[in-house]
Amino acid sequence: MIDPFGRSIEYLRVSVTDRCDFRCVYCMAEDMTFLPKKEILSLEELDRLCTAFVNLGVKKLRMTGGEPLVRRNIMWLFRRLGRHLESGALEELTLTTNGSQLSRFASELYDCGVRRVNVSLDTLNPDKFVAITRWGKYDKVMEGLQAAKDAGLKVKLNAVALKGVNDDEFDHMVEWCGEQGFDLTFIEVMPMGDIGGEDRVDQYLPLSLVRSKLAEKWTLEESDHRTGGPARYMTVKETGGRLGFITPLTHNFCESCNRVRVTCTGMLYMCLGQDDDADLREPLRASDDDALLEDKIRAAIARKPKGHDFVIDRRHNQPAVARHMSVTGG
Ligand code: SAM
Ligand code: SF4
Repeated sequence: MIDPFGRSIEYLRVSVTDRCDFRCVYCMAEDMTFLPKKEILSLEELDRLCTAFVNLGVKKLRMTGGEPLVRRNIMWLFRRLGRHLESGALEELTLTTNGSQLSRFASELYDCGVRRVNVSLDTLNPDKFVAITRWGKYDKVMEGLQAAKDAGLKVKLNAVALKGVNDDEFDHMVEWCGEQGFDLTFIEVMPMGDIGGEDRVDQYLPLSLVRSKLAEKWTLEESDHRTGGPARYMTVKETGGRLGFITPLTHNFCESCNRVRVTCTGMLYMCLGQDDDADLREPLRASDDDALLEDKIRAAIARKPKGHDFVIDRRHNQPAVARHMSVTGG
């Protein structure tokens, strides 16, 4: 699938549920209303949908959410999708998780062919962890990380850079990840969805600043490592660990965008930061044959926009898109 700007679309992110066992302050309001069950694609429908994308050339699938591992019986989907790894059609099956359920599922994920996980963790301070996630249990996430390591999964931590919240910890996080053998990626906070009273201008911390601050303590070497995602990587000479930066605001990465996203109701978003979508649930449910579905996917890719228009400043203190990150899955 080639889009109008010549980008080859090989990466699909699937939000398998909008629900979550945490309520991170930059992601959700505490009193979120979730979608009614009947609107949500069944696991069988998600399998069909992902398979259609694989047949159209997608090489990398990432399950996300909400929290993907709180969806009931989600291992069935991982196991099913594992067949595309075995056939060679798919190069990578992976997930982004808050880590709360990893102690239960890490080894089963490995069994299904998953080799890497992204775990979102913004702080190594248990009190701050509660302040950020509201409902999270720090020890459970630590157990989950250990289980992932024990299972042989390669771990990358994702940390959202939050001004005045975790910005005093970045050196420690770099050091700790180096010791654990985890890669670490910092993410700029993005203006998505109403988060109930929290102010994004207060949260926003440009990663250009984070990077120059880190460079005072660490030797950061340019790296050409790519994972197919939007992060740009450096190597930390002292630890040997990789350090990534996802900078949608300070440096727009859209020119090399190879991804699209599907929500748990089957809405395809061609861009995380734009509202245009395509309803894939309708062709999925209209026919057992995938011809309609594939036509609709192709037509949607043909209108993938050039890029997002995220801005955070005092004059633009409204979400750039109304939906929450948990809908399209980050
Ligand atoms: N629940 C899983 C997790 O937290 O890893 C997967 C879904 S979560 C929406 C995916 C990623 O999006 C997480 O790393 C989270 O920190 C990030 N995220 C959520 N809201 C964000 C926002 N407004 N700006 C930047 N990143 C955000
Ligand atoms: Fe849940 Fe992930 Fe959003 Fe936090 S970032 S509330 S863990 S979906």
